[in-house]
Amino acid sequence: MEKEESHPEESVRRNGFSSLGLREELLRAVTEKGYTEPTEIQIKAIPIILSGRDLTGTSQTGTGKTAAFALPILHRLSRFRETRCLVLEPTRELAQQVSEQFSIYGKFIDVFTTLVHGGVGYGNQLKDLSRKPEVVVATPGRLLDHMGQGNVNLKKLDCLVLDEVDRMLDMGFLPDVRRIVGRCPRKRQTLLFSATVPDEIQALASWVLHRPEKVDVGASAPAETVSHAIYPVDNRQKFDLLLALLKKDQFQSVLIFCRTKAGADAIARWLQAAKQSVATMHSNRSQSERNEALAGFKKGTYEVLVATDIASRGIDIADVSHVINYDIPHNPEDYVHRIGRTGRMYRDGDAVTLFCAGESDQLRAIERFIGKTIKREKLEDFEYAWSPILEEEKPVARRRNRGFHSDSRSARSGRRRR
Ligand code: AMP
Repeated sequence: MEKEESHPEESVRRNGFSSLGLREELLRAVTEKGYTEPTEIQIKAIPIILSGRDLTGTSQTGTGKTAAFALPILHRLSRFRETRCLVLEPTRELAQQVSEQFSIYGKFIDVFTTLVHGGVGYGNQLKDLSRKPEVVVATPGRLLDHMGQGNVNLKKLDCLVLDEVDRMLDMGFLPDVRRIVGRCPRKRQTLLFSATVPDEIQALASWVLHRPEKVDVGASAPAETVSHAIYPVDNRQKFDLLLALLKKDQFQSVLIFCRTKAGADAIARWLQAAKQSVATMHSNRSQSERNEALAGFKKGTYEVLVATDIASRGIDIADVSHVINYDIPHNPEDYVHRIGRTGRMYRDGDAVTLFCAGESDQLRAIERFIGKTIKREKLEDFEYAWSPILEEEKPVARRRNRGFHSDSRSARSGRRRR
């Protein structure tokens, strides 16, 4: 009888990291890090990246995306004394995290990864760049500064990673990204990751990618291990309800999202007054304050981190038990990103959203986006002084999940191709 050929992905699922064809030094680093099997995005993306093809990924955060691109990139690198790979990240924290992961996975390989971002002095970056790192992980603004001063040489670049591109779009970085891409060699491999793909990103993808393979790992769906709840409350009792929630549940690590920096500062102050151990993170805080807040929260020095959306994308905090949206996010993508901080790597997590009258449109948009209705909760024993006025809600329609268009569009676009 003829033997049925098994799909390569199945084989990797069965046989784990060792069947991905990665070099031994990388497998050693992965084992040392304690990973026993590759995640879905790693199974799908690593073979494509190893083959040298371009790739678009709509991967959910917290799924092991960084290793999915760092491992195959490192596989092909050795000490060249030239910059071969550039990774662009929207925020300093993400850039730091990704560069750390390159260093961890590449610890048994003689390659040098450096980090370039704003908010810190130029001195160390200049020193590192002069050592001609094989991998540069950067935020766009500071990289452009260095490029303008001739501190970075991208002539030998053969791999470009544009990570969290929807976040770059939100932060107004796409013009900078285009300028950087325009100065990279045309013959290269390009990997583009974005949780959502609005038209601007589709246009960028058509311009930067050449017949990309697509890897879709549950875009715009929060991890299934997260339980969601909406707590309707009158605006005047929001903080009281937050405190009551914090007291009721045995929270170990709670990330609270506020819409504004001033709001985040106020909540943090009030929580401190209520004897909670709190750190704050938003873009008005200095880089060292942001680092201290994040490190303290990761270590458990602070049980609560109050943040604006700067912390909602990609930041890797292993054990966030609860995410609380003190303010409902304005845009549904942000809900998914905020919630992505909990339930990471298949752990359980709770996502709580405080909801006030007048916010029904936002709530409906979120429910449409994630394709399900979130249950409404009332906190037992909490004295609701005002009954929250809820506007009548219409049933939600399932939203079509938009991924990247097929390549035919990029063929039609007539834009620069490699
Ligand atoms: P990322 O989506 O890249 O932010 O990764 C999320 C977390 O998953 C990070 O803490 C990684 O260290 C971890 N991780 C990545 N790959 C694996 C794996 N194969 N097994 C277990 N943890 C992993």
